[in-house]
Amino acid sequence: MIYKKITLKKGKEESLLRFHPWVFSGAIAHIENGIEEGDLVSVYTADSRCIGNGYYQIGSIAVRILTFSEDEINQDFFSKRITEAYKMRKSIGLIREDNNAFRLVHGEGDFLPGLVIDVYGNTAVVQAHAPGMHFARHLIAKALVALSDANIKNVYYKSETTLPYKAQLDPQNDYIIGSFETNIAIENGLKFHVDWLKGQKTGFFVDQRDNRSLLEKYSNGRNVLNMFCYTGGFSFYAMRGGANLVHSVDSSAKAIQLTKDNVELNFPSDSRHEAFAEDAFKFLNDIDNKYDLIILDPPAFAKHKSALRNALIGYRKLNAKAFEKIKSGGIIFTFSCSQAVSREQFRLAVFSAAAQSKRKVRILHQLTQPSDHPINIYHPEGEYLKGLVLYVE
Ligand code: SAH
Repeated sequence: MIYKKITLKKGKEESLLRFHPWVFSGAIAHIENGIEEGDLVSVYTADSRCIGNGYYQIGSIAVRILTFSEDEINQDFFSKRITEAYKMRKSIGLIREDNNAFRLVHGEGDFLPGLVIDVYGNTAVVQAHAPGMHFARHLIAKALVALSDANIKNVYYKSETTLPYKAQLDPQNDYIIGSFETNIAIENGLKFHVDWLKGQKTGFFVDQRDNRSLLEKYSNGRNVLNMFCYTGGFSFYAMRGGANLVHSVDSSAKAIQLTKDNVELNFPSDSRHEAFAEDAFKFLNDIDNKYDLIILDPPAFAKHKSALRNALIGYRKLNAKAFEKIKSGGIIFTFSCSQAVSREQFRLAVFSAAAQSKRKVRILHQLTQPSDHPINIYHPEGEYLKGLVLYVE
């Protein structure tokens, strides 16, 4: 199928020939009349070879390529891609009775640029990051409920804050198919209330699943501080792992309420857990020698490259506080989910923090995002989560 044409400047097809799925606006020589934001387009080289089909968008990433062929983008296309994403996760043992919370589609990592889908039991939460995906939302929803053996009955569309504001698409957060059933999902046997209606992102951070499992193994007998806890993910793994006490901190009172509800769900009336609605930096000032396992999982300090410098200072300051305060023989799980911050830059920020504290620090693990957040090998930008597990003497 040939759609309206976008023609590249001479020689600007290099990265596309290596299957990188983005066309930057600066690479474009000509846009056929009548192309509007969110339209399907065919991308052509200066010498008239068709590269593939994708969605047009106003902005620096002008086209997101969906197929490096002339395939039509229709129901069959979305059904095949979504089925493939599901099959991959099923085949690697990620979807189980005791684990029904997972990311089903991770944008470029699943060859569906601009689309994120998280599944919580019977409900799929769909987020469009590109106008084209907004227009395809009904095809996507149909593909989801048709997935055989996935048992998805409800599709909640949540793109009010993820679509470009200027596109004026007026997306309403709402169910496209089905309605509210239950919001309890299971991750590695632990239960969580997932608030996709009012919570952050799709309601839960599934990307920390493997790192939470690792934390569980280190928790026995330790005093654990879970900073930036949100729904309390790390805290329950620590409790199951035999922690002495677990303190969860988040500046959002709502997050703290969710954390408390989730504790009740898994460990009713367990006095080892306490939750505090407080600013992280303030809280850390006051914890001399109290904890010997600290988790630092702050929000993205750099949402764009322009914020990089300040973000690195932020990571250094935050980690320096933890190094200064942690008990001898303590362990720190420290993370950055800023895509704009590279693995090396993050490690350097943590290194500077360690040096400032003058303590002996060893790296035990270098962590990343889990297998349901795959990185398309042709699109290294898909790597965003970085973590270090550190032993502090
Ligand atoms: N660790 C969580 C995800 C963290 S998301 C998990 O496993 O699910 C980042 C969280 O940091 C958000 O809940 C946000 O409310 C909180 N936050 C942002 N700024 C903060 C601050 N200055 N102090 C404490 N918490 C903060």
